[in-house]
Amino acid sequence: MDCLFCKIVAGDIPSKKIHETDDLIVIEDINPQAPVHLLIISKEHFLNLNDCEDPALMGKYLAAASTVAKKLRIAESGFRTVINTNAEGGQVVYHLHIHVMGGRQLKGQMG
Ligand code: AMP
Ligand code: ZN
Repeated sequence: MDCLFCKIVAGDIPSKKIHETDDLIVIEDINPQAPVHLLIISKEHFLNLNDCEDPALMGKYLAAASTVAKKLRIAESGFRTVINTNAEGGQVVYHLHIHVMGGRQLKGQMG
């Protein structure tokens, strides 16, 4: 499948991986919007939230946000999680991922 994040999960495209479980990887975003900007990427290819109807799996993806926030020491200061879904949600890469941003005071809707 011609999917950027599937290729990153497979290791065919390099990334800065900072965490991994059986279900997901966490990498640094290539165009960071904050000092810490990570992407939690599902290992299984789902297009987006509309395409993943497994609540247990969704819980694991979301739980990874605080795991990596603690690892990068932004859990206490605070961080933001964002999931963009389809065109009007601002989704660009159609493989399920959760943004984790922090390390500065975030403002407004998206910081
Ligand atoms: P979204 O708008 O939610 O689909 O966000 C896609 C995100 O993927 C953007 O923040 C991009 O900067 C990021 N991105 C695109 N290509 C790469 C890449 N090769 N490695 C890491 N992050 C990427
Ligand atoms: Zn994919």
